[in-house]
Amino acid sequence: MPDQIQKVDMDKIVSLCKRRGFIFQSSEIYGGLSSCWDYGPLGAELKRNIKNYWWQKVVQERDDTVGIDASIMMHPKVWEASGHIAGFSDPLVECKACQHRFRETDINSKTCPDCGSALTEARMFNLMFKTFMGPVEDAANIIYLRPETAQAMFVNFDNVQSTTRKKLPFGIAQVGKSFRNEITTGNFIFRTREFEQMEIEYFVKPGTDVEWFDYWVKERFDYYVGLGIKKENLRLRAHEKDELAHYAKACFDVEYNFPIGWSEIEGIANRGDFDLSQHSKYSGKTLDYFDEEKNERYIPYVIEPSSGVDRTLLAVLVDAYDEDIADNETRVVLRIKPSLAPIKVAILPLSRNQKLLPISREVYTMVRKCYMTQYDDAQSIGRRYRRQDEIGTPYCVTIDFQSLEDNQVTIRDRDSMQQIRVPIPELMPALEAKFRD
Ligand code: ATP
Repeated sequence: MPDQIQKVDMDKIVSLCKRRGFIFQSSEIYGGLSSCWDYGPLGAELKRNIKNYWWQKVVQERDDTVGIDASIMMHPKVWEASGHIAGFSDPLVECKACQHRFRETDINSKTCPDCGSALTEARMFNLMFKTFMGPVEDAANIIYLRPETAQAMFVNFDNVQSTTRKKLPFGIAQVGKSFRNEITTGNFIFRTREFEQMEIEYFVKPGTDVEWFDYWVKERFDYYVGLGIKKENLRLRAHEKDELAHYAKACFDVEYNFPIGWSEIEGIANRGDFDLSQHSKYSGKTLDYFDEEKNERYIPYVIEPSSGVDRTLLAVLVDAYDEDIADNETRVVLRIKPSLAPIKVAILPLSRNQKLLPISREVYTMVRKCYMTQYDDAQSIGRRYRRQDEIGTPYCVTIDFQSLEDNQVTIRDRDSMQQIRVPIPELMPALEAKFRD
């Protein structure tokens, strides 16, 4: 697939996010906290819509998947069994002069990219955040913030299977925060130390895993197309043998063509029976499955599609960002899929004239019951359209003096800028038809 040139750079996205309240630097008034970001009013909506879309596609619309919402802090033995205590590390090199630290795999030279001085030999650095549980800070009380949500699905395999009586193949899904003490962070929300994941552990009969792996790779690629991301900005990349974890049989990344280049937004792995076997061994509890048809017990294999909320959100913003010419001016427009947009409808009375107020508030009250809606009566109508275009609002409803006579309003479309008039009693069905996928 040829590399596409992105027409937007990261600075434009960062600046739009700050200007319009999508994403702010964390603790900004104190100078910010490195690699931590706060989602503002519009970012929080967009994030919620992305997570809801994922949940709808992988839990709500499927018979074979159920969701859980597990604790971030887990028994420390979980991380021994999973291999994270021994092996969840990156090679770290440190500059002997400025002490800046780098992930060895991120840099190509033997000298410091910041000051040119010599670097130390690489040493392995564990990426898990450690803390203490309870008032006593000693080794017996060490716990970890989870570096992935996946382990909760493995340790709850038996609870979920026995309470839902699901038969193989079936999946457990979860959305939640994960924490990794990354050596190098950056590129805005692409690599941070606190982030959110949307993960599925899909349990299958051994021997059917290759087939299910192929199914999920395709399914997950199509999911991003369904999110409204342009197909030509998405690609699948198979992991080379030397990139695979020792237990993984195969892994594909879904990559997006970010301004920083093609980068991972999701990994899909065939993990075999590694996880359930390890937890059986470390906990002493059998985590197998009784196959009624074959009348035998075995440990299921697992396919893991693991996606990042923040990276998906960044891909959605980059992909939707557009500039065109409207009324002889450059217009910034976020062409987000309507159902994902933070604000779905804007109610814009033509002016602040008191005569328009009752009918405008009436329409606003009606629409906001069903959609995230903004009421805006400040400045010219043209400026207000631009403000809504820039945050991706797909439809603006304008109320003018004629509305007082004919009880009709205008719906203006973000992308085509076309306007149609509809009677107020038909506004809700008209909007509903537009949002229907
Ligand atoms: P990378 O190679 O970029 O560090 P990874 O392969 O370690 O990522 P996984 O462990 O497969 O990532 O995690 C699944 C998903 O979680 C990633 O595809 C990404 O979307 C998200 N993710 C992982 N680490 C981070 C991070 N530090 N910041 C933001 N999102 C992350």
